[in-house]
Amino acid sequence: MGCCDEPTLLPVDEAITRMLKAVERQAPPEQVLPLSDALDRVLAQAVVAPIAVPGHDNSAMDGYALRSSDASQPLTVIGEALAGHPFTGTLKPGECVRIMTGAPLPAGADAVQMQENTQREGDTLTLTQSVESGANIRRRGEDITQGDTLLARGQRLGPVEIGLLASVGIAQVAVYRPLTVAILSTGDELVPPGQPLGDGQIYDSNRYAIGALLRRLNVDVLDLGLIPDEPDAIRAALESADARADAVISSGGVSVGDADYVKDILGQLGHINFWKVAIKPGKPFAFGHLQNSVFFGLPGNPVSALVTLHQLALPVLRTLAGEQLPAPLSVTAIAAGTYKKRPGRQDFQRARLESSAGDNRVTSNGPQGSGVMTSFLDANCYVVLEAERGRVEAGETVTVVPFDRFIQ
Ligand code: AMP
Ligand code: MG
Repeated sequence: MGCCDEPTLLPVDEAITRMLKAVERQAPPEQVLPLSDALDRVLAQAVVAPIAVPGHDNSAMDGYALRSSDASQPLTVIGEALAGHPFTGTLKPGECVRIMTGAPLPAGADAVQMQENTQREGDTLTLTQSVESGANIRRRGEDITQGDTLLARGQRLGPVEIGLLASVGIAQVAVYRPLTVAILSTGDELVPPGQPLGDGQIYDSNRYAIGALLRRLNVDVLDLGLIPDEPDAIRAALESADARADAVISSGGVSVGDADYVKDILGQLGHINFWKVAIKPGKPFAFGHLQNSVFFGLPGNPVSALVTLHQLALPVLRTLAGEQLPAPLSVTAIAAGTYKKRPGRQDFQRARLESSAGDNRVTSNGPQGSGVMTSFLDANCYVVLEAERGRVEAGETVTVVPFDRFIQ
């Protein structure tokens, strides 16, 4: 279907811009947490480094601290400096100090010669190689400057950030409270895993995939279960979700079928911002507001639900959670084979990116139907094909978005 057949489809970029604009609001409430509980939370305040790291010039090697200008050899070893046990004297010409990695550089020394380049007999040291001023020294503040902004407000805390905060002695941090996100699946055909399937029934997989992705985002997931294709049941579910959650995510029932009530009920209870995006897989994706919450209506097809959650809803949820979004990463690659594509919608095909002999090459991960969840298995990226683009031949350059930790 071409773009001109469906002029109401909103381009992906525009959909994201509109959603981000719609959720501009006050930052979420804050709480203070011990550092060890702060993984995957979002900083509510910038952190200024209270100290420099390293706090003092120190040795990068096990060896000997010395004066690089000392022409005379051998040197006399006058003491030792260990991490946590500095040498307190001052080196005079002709003297050196045995030093271990991390020990502060003694006064008077300006270089460290690594142990492997020395010969020691008693307290006499001979250098087998010369050493330049500054060699093997980690300078005070070379990692972190005291007083600099170490982490910005809105930074999500991963292992690196947690380690950096600890390295400047910070034991607790102000973070935003996690969002509460309600999820529900609509569809008379759906059965929860663990129960036998009746005639024409299928297992509800979306709620599990959506819930799993949301847990990676560290939101509180409120699982409202399976809702039948009945307007009253859907209305009651959305009202209950709205009363308890910051955001509500449904799957199914947003298309144009006879049992697709979700969008209309969103319109009755709140406001439809837009419906239908020029994305494949996806298209029937509804975004709007209930009385207290933001609403995302994902399509029912499992691949469509996951791709639209990942590509459309996730940036909005992250913004709602107070996060400053990092710039998205995309690279170019050579198409290793052909890619089926018709002009009209921006396509997110699951694929495998490999680098060989300096070239990025990307191979389709097989059938791309919106019900083919295995198309994600062993894939490591999306090949993102522009809306207006047609079929891609092998050898053409394509844009690739590597999977992030939310989907992998
Ligand atoms: P719908 O968007 O409700 O028209 O559903 C589109 C397709 O996705 C249908 O084949 C549904 O059976 C399927 N589907 C809907 N919801 C789910 C779900 N929660 N898990 C797995 N498949 C679903
Ligand atoms: Mg349905």
